[in-house]
Amino acid sequence: MTVASKLEAIRDRLRRAERAAGRPEGSVALIAVSKMQPVEALREAYAAGQRDFGENYLQELEEKAEALRDLPDLRFHVIGHVQSNKARIAARHAAMLHTIDSVSLVAELGKRVAGRPEPLPVLIEVNVGGEAQKHGCSSAQIGPLIEAIEAQPGLRLRGLMTVPPHTDDPTGARPFFRRLRELRELHGIDRLPELSMGMSHDLEAAVIEGATMVRVGTAIFGERPPR
Ligand SMILES: *Cc1c(COP(=O)(O)O)cnc(C)c1O
Repeated sequence: MTVASKLEAIRDRLRRAERAAGRPEGSVALIAVSKMQPVEALREAYAAGQRDFGENYLQELEEKAEALRDLPDLRFHVIGHVQSNKARIAARHAAMLHTIDSVSLVAELGKRVAGRPEPLPVLIEVNVGGEAQKHGCSSAQIGPLIEAIEAQPGLRLRGLMTVPPHTDDPTGARPFFRRLRELRELHGIDRLPELSMGMSHDLEAAVIEGATMVRVGTAIFGERPPR
């Protein structure tokens, strides 16, 4: 199957999930997660109408942004952990950053975004499963992070993001997606309109629980080569 046909199949799945959840068609944005995929694969998806892409590794993002400069309306979403020494790359190339999880990263980004024409939209990554090996903040840290972000004129807070604990049964993620939605309600939906959650195997559960963006990799591009 080509990237274009897999992309069409995912758009179909997403439309069906929106319908099943009683949500308007097109209310959930699709981010094509292209980490570890060659730039040709991104071009194929772009030719099939895809504009939003997710990347995890900042070095790789920088190389791809350079190689795809001829596609000015292509948008990169940073969905991987950002170390402070790579904040500059995110500030330069990201259309949105989904993975704010510390006050020190907020401060570093706040400095690095100076010179961007528009503020950088950001999401707070929440480790809803409390897993030691995962990035993301605890629910108690959301309040202080909101304050820190709102104090930075170059950053614009847009919502919350999560990667739930892995379960073989895709509906197993649903309580974690619900938890993220409840955390958004707690802190105010006006401040946090976006919920970035759901991947290849569990996007339906995420859409039912209110995802506004799903991040889909393997179902569009196939298995990733090892890093
Ligand atoms: C890799 C990745 C995805 C995509 O996962 P798939 O299972 O390939 O759809 C989504 N979100 C994050 C944060 C990722 O690292």
